[in-house]
Amino acid sequence: MQATQIPATGDVRRAAHPSDNIAEVVTRMKPVSATVLRATRACDALDNFGCALRGCTTMHHLSYQAETISMFWSHSWHGEAWRKWITLLLFYNGQTAAAIACFGSAVASLLFALEVLPVLIGPDNYSENVPKSMWQSFWAALVGMILYLSVLVFWRPSGSIFLDVICIDQTNKSGKSDGLLSIGAFLKSSQSMLVLWDATYSDRLWTMFEIAGFLKSRREGERPRIVLRPTMLGPCYLLQTLTVFLVYSVLDNISVHLSADQQWVLWVLYVPVCFCGLYINTATFRIYFRSVNDSMDRLARWSLADVNCFCCDDGHKQSRGLCDREIVLKCMRTWFGSVEEFEKRVRTELLDIFVHEQSRQPFTYRQVVTALVPVIWSYLDRASAWSRFTTGSDDPRIQASREIIRGLAWWLGVAPVAFLIQCRLACLLQRKTNCEPLLNLLPLLASVFFILAALLLEQLLFQHRFIRGDGHVVNMALLAAAGLPLAWLLYRYVGAGPMVRAPTRSWNVL
Ligand SMILES: [Zn+2]
Repeated sequence: MQATQIPATGDVRRAAHPSDNIAEVVTRMKPVSATVLRATRACDALDNFGCALRGCTTMHHLSYQAETISMFWSHSWHGEAWRKWITLLLFYNGQTAAAIACFGSAVASLLFALEVLPVLIGPDNYSENVPKSMWQSFWAALVGMILYLSVLVFWRPSGSIFLDVICIDQTNKSGKSDGLLSIGAFLKSSQSMLVLWDATYSDRLWTMFEIAGFLKSRREGERPRIVLRPTMLGPCYLLQTLTVFLVYSVLDNISVHLSADQQWVLWVLYVPVCFCGLYINTATFRIYFRSVNDSMDRLARWSLADVNCFCCDDGHKQSRGLCDREIVLKCMRTWFGSVEEFEKRVRTELLDIFVHEQSRQPFTYRQVVTALVPVIWSYLDRASAWSRFTTGSDDPRIQASREIIRGLAWWLGVAPVAFLIQCRLACLLQRKTNCEPLLNLLPLLASVFFILAALLLEQLLFQHRFIRGDGHVVNMALLAAAGLPLAWLLYRYVGAGPMVRAPTRSWNVL
């Protein structure tokens, strides 16, 4: 949000100094006209690959009059737009995309098992030409991935949101002025705030003004609903999904074309794919944890004099002498008594909120499991192949059930724990040193080591038939019984991000 270029209108014209009256109107938190309060749909703000987030100023026609707004999007214009777009897609569409993709994947798996879908790749008769351990299909993964990406990008979430470039008319001078003067009213009418956090967030005047105004506008005793999504992590989650898809589905399907002697080729392919995806993520996680720590340090000694705003950077050319900083200073004096009092509260209460939410929100089990969803598609493929090609005395349904339970154990248990190990170590080893590649490699290797240990456990379980003739269903249920509670306990009590610290003050203090 940039409030520069507010022309003198209405009340403002009568003031001795325009910034006095602008601040007075803003702090009232009331719209300056009956039609100024507007919202837009989240899907419209995400359209054209996030055009609005790149600063497109001709989208005001996509807004509509509203009395309440579901979510106020607060972001720094200095953050990268593509990261915000991916983060928002995952926030709004990620779980829907995963659910629809899993449903489509299950249907494709069933159709392959019933021989409706043909063998896509590999020999037509698996049972004669391919060892059982390599039985695979590609339908479930293919349908899953196509549905996942399609829903992620094209699903249209309808929740009402506030985004300045759409809800405030950028092309009409008086409309823009009315919208900016009503920013307090927009904040007050918003039920929750989505903070698209990046390293520049707490250094910008208007983002800090927005969050202070939002907290100030809550009713007595109301717990502010602040959702925090670091924009650096959105692309990481997407990369994790693509890496898992490549490793599990694409490479597993290559294995059917290789003889037993050539299986080493598969490992030669696994290593660079895993390495690229996981290495980039580990390096990004370390940068992210460092930037969180740096931001928290800066917040601990935060001063209005240190934050940046467009008008001052520009030498007040575009704002014709009006200064956003002056307006914000006046607002803060009205809301908090003095600028010093506001700064003190940022350094204590706002810092507490940020620290608490940064440790709680960015790495939830649900987000991680959504990012790892291709794991279950791959096992649905295996289940359909076993169901279709099992002959003789074995029951195809039991063989398929075993693969599904095995898939759930890996998707909901083993893989999230491996991800948590990678994140925790990236957090512990966040400090920048002279041997960066080694520090990026250690969390990756620890994560891979855990996966190898789980593979070993799986093999041990396969070798011990606890119930004769069960097709290893119980053995795989044991793997799930070990993996799922472990994942639940680790995400509940340890967490993938920085250690959780409870806020020392209540939320509704500002
Ligand atoms: Zn200025």
